[in-house]
Amino acid sequence: MINLLDFDLPGLAAYCETLGEKRFRATQLFRWIHQKGAADFAAMTDLAKSLREKLAGKAEIRDLPVLSEHVSADGTVKWLFDVGGGNAVESVFIPEDDRGTLCVSSQAGCAVGCRFCSTGHQGFSRNLSTGEILAQLWHAEHSLRQRLGTGSERVITNVVMMGMGEPLQNYSALIPALKVMLDDHGYGLSRRRVTVSTSGVVPMIERLREDCPVALAVSLHAPVDALRDDLVPINRKYPIAELMAACQSYLHAAPRDFITFEYCMLDGVNDTDAHAQALLALVQGRAGAPRVPCKFNLIPFNPFPQSGLKRSPRERVTAFAKVLQDAGVVTTIRKTRGDDIDAACGQLAGEVQDRTRVVERFSQRAPLRIMALRETGHA
Ligand code: SF4
Repeated sequence: MINLLDFDLPGLAAYCETLGEKRFRATQLFRWIHQKGAADFAAMTDLAKSLREKLAGKAEIRDLPVLSEHVSADGTVKWLFDVGGGNAVESVFIPEDDRGTLCVSSQAGCAVGCRFCSTGHQGFSRNLSTGEILAQLWHAEHSLRQRLGTGSERVITNVVMMGMGEPLQNYSALIPALKVMLDDHGYGLSRRRVTVSTSGVVPMIERLREDCPVALAVSLHAPVDALRDDLVPINRKYPIAELMAACQSYLHAAPRDFITFEYCMLDGVNDTDAHAQALLALVQGRAGAPRVPCKFNLIPFNPFPQSGLKRSPRERVTAFAKVLQDAGVVTTIRKTRGDDIDAACGQLAGEVQDRTRVVERFSQRAPLRIMALRETGHA
């Protein structure tokens, strides 16, 4: 069966042509799938009957089975999706007053192996397909609309490719997925509201600038190569000076005039005032790399046993932020959301890492959950 979630609009048009249908039919079909959340061709009433008949039995809109779904007291929703072979990926919806953000996964596991990331400790299983990346958005958007009773009004206004995986190491699946998010016949999100977060895959940052420039976040976590080599091992291949040059170049095409640097605060490792000063020297072009207009997002570390790392005390994070802010660099401290459901970044991956445990834990609950969602038409 062909999974129609694997196609961007030109891809769907090409598929319709193989069925002997006019390309414009693809736009109708695309809108039914992404804007109305339809999974049943029979429900697509204004679609030519001939096309509906051809699609039935040949194609499908393939949702991801839900292993678990938890709703936090603060409205954060976390899904754990089964992607087969004992692998699961997470997506998290974070509601705020003026936006609804979905954090999406791009891979089952991750090959980069950042020291502070429980997904990295899990190792790499496989890339997700375009359909599996988009199914996270399709499922979240349309199930949230039903739950919140918003009708056809959009719930998810922002997407961050910041879940499990390094999106730029799954480039060929990522780009069509981004194009569907941006397409006015799809989710219609502005480029400023779709963010790709990377650990620093320099050649792919350059390709993203050409192919589909969206907002860019970079997991920096250290101001100098010696430390970053240890925390973010891909730095040994693409050191900081190359990364900064790629960031500066990216800004020529980016929808925003700054790069967001993510910085996980690790007690006694990268969180001193001297580290903050070194970061300033780096982004202001005083450390041998080009100047990069930027914002910093300081992330409280979520400790997990194998890391051997500790979360920086709150006062240290605040003092670190002040050094950056006093120098005129916009700096935020990430709020922890969904604490009651372990939805903060990386926490779920620790459970996924032990797949036996995950399967055991969810095997009894999953059928109930999937049944409940089937009743709403989204499984
Ligand atoms: S932080 Fe991102 S790139 Fe690094 S190991 Fe975790 S998922 Fe991979």
